[in-house]
Amino acid sequence: MPDYVPKLLRVNLTTGRAGVEAVPPKIAHDYIGGRGVAVSYLYDEVPARTEPLGPDNKIIFTIGPLGGTGGLSYSRWMVTSKSPLTGAYVRAVGGADFGAWLRFAGLDGIIVEGKANKPAYIFVEGNKFEIRDAANLWGLGTMETQKRLKERHGEDTRVACIGPAGEKLVRFAHVISDQRTASRGGCGAVMGSKNLKAIVIKAQPVLPKIPGMNDLIKQQAEFHQKAPMLPAFRRDGTHMNMVFAQKLGFFPARNFRDGTLDGWENISPQAYAALKVTDTKCYGCIVHCGKLFKATEGPWAGAISEGPDYETTFALAGSIMSTDIGFTIAADYLLDDLGMDSISAGVTIGLAYELFEKGIITTKDTGGLELTYGNAAAAMELIKRMGLRQGIGDLLAEGSKRAAARIGKGAEKCAIEVKGMEMAGYEPRGAKRQGLAYATSNIGASHNIAFIEQEIYGVPKPHPVDRLADEGSADVVKLSQDRVATNEVGIGCAFTQGMSPIRHFGQMLSTATGVPEFADPGYIFKVGERIYNLERLFNLREGFSRKDDTLPVRMLTEPLQKAGPSEGQVVRKQDSLLDEFYACRGWDKNGVPTPAKLEELGLGDKGPVTK
Ligand code: SF4
Repeated sequence: MPDYVPKLLRVNLTTGRAGVEAVPPKIAHDYIGGRGVAVSYLYDEVPARTEPLGPDNKIIFTIGPLGGTGGLSYSRWMVTSKSPLTGAYVRAVGGADFGAWLRFAGLDGIIVEGKANKPAYIFVEGNKFEIRDAANLWGLGTMETQKRLKERHGEDTRVACIGPAGEKLVRFAHVISDQRTASRGGCGAVMGSKNLKAIVIKAQPVLPKIPGMNDLIKQQAEFHQKAPMLPAFRRDGTHMNMVFAQKLGFFPARNFRDGTLDGWENISPQAYAALKVTDTKCYGCIVHCGKLFKATEGPWAGAISEGPDYETTFALAGSIMSTDIGFTIAADYLLDDLGMDSISAGVTIGLAYELFEKGIITTKDTGGLELTYGNAAAAMELIKRMGLRQGIGDLLAEGSKRAAARIGKGAEKCAIEVKGMEMAGYEPRGAKRQGLAYATSNIGASHNIAFIEQEIYGVPKPHPVDRLADEGSADVVKLSQDRVATNEVGIGCAFTQGMSPIRHFGQMLSTATGVPEFADPGYIFKVGERIYNLERLFNLREGFSRKDDTLPVRMLTEPLQKAGPSEGQVVRKQDSLLDEFYACRGWDKNGVPTPAKLEELGLGDKGPVTK
């Protein structure tokens, strides 16, 4: 592969050394880029038992071969690390322009290692790679941080940074660029632990000239324009999922006890549309799913935020049983500015509200806050205290699992997490393969590692799925996990993944890299499976096993309430689903890839791992 040599900038914050290195040909061939290259480096360079918030952990920023090429929705960027929230592998994907700017700077990624002895930021311009003093940025919110860095370095810079939550090692702190977040799993805290406030890239937005690429981009645009879901998605963004969730009864409300929320019409797609200021987008996207909203009434009138999306809306509104749309907009901005993942923050707040309802915590614990359902002002204050680690916020900043364990008195049963990561907005009792996807996800209960469209949207391919059936159809979980991993070698957007065929994606990868093999859908899908298995091996090496592939006890024992067509559902046969899933994957009964599967994937030198 003489033409395809991805380049990574490696910055050691302890020694101050920085330099560009070529990705070895075998890694470029076997993992292509993006998520694949990142997990390959993480597996090889971050050994078992590395402290996630210690200097030996690494954080890896990557793009795929299509980033900054003009390919539509392929300029997303990713952070990969060992998660301080879960102790497992984590990757989180961000948007806006930052991914394209990495390409314009001539890079496919940045590996950050070590720890600076004082607040610092990395500055990239041409062949200049500098570690600069960030003392006067430390403590600032993410919006002011980006503003000041752009004032200092010019409008042709793009910034990925953390807020106070990352500095204070909130375990679900995110990394943000513009108002687009790489949200899940606490990569912002990893940056904070390294005293790294930001990465700043200054470059001219010049697209590389790649023969044949413009024709492929035109075809891609035609695919997007013809996609059946495009009009609704362009109009409503992810809020369109609210309607499915309410009608089918899998909207998590009251800390995942109910499947619908009374008054949800106040936070419906139509309600948000009435507050829309403008559409927003990531670099090179024609979908424009992002929306800037402005609250016009109530206590938060005047609040403006790019978002919230469906997930943030569920995590804020469902958790505290409030349909105050102004609250969701104002809280979304505060979360972004402090630098916290809205799903983990919202679901952790949901835990606190339930514990308050049950008397397990009281105003003595909350510093006087009345965490009663509907009290949005108290939730807003909790967000602030979490981000700054003040009072009870210091405990909640540890995430639901750790906070519940420390509180005790049965609080553990109310923590809604998998492997320590708080659950996304599709209730597993009303979508049981989505539950299996959460349970077996390599990063915890994320919907972006596998999204079971057969259950959420009723897509009948590769076959129809009964979302309430206790057993069967585990194959769609493997399919989605591997398809997402394949897309993220690109790094393609999760929302546009289904808009163009995988063969076209392969043609674009092949054209961008000059590697004919990448045009083969079978080859790149196998790369996705290889990635998923290597992430699994990373987790097995850390001590995770079948026992960790489980939903919260609530889903396994308590019937879902107020859930319309999902009323009374319980996940009764998780073990059967796991057995079926492991068999689909070529893993043994303990969830360990068999030697034959590892050989098939070219991972024989990485395992087998036995526990
Ligand atoms: S669809 Fe939305 S998230 Fe995806 S690339 Fe476009 S604007 Fe970004």
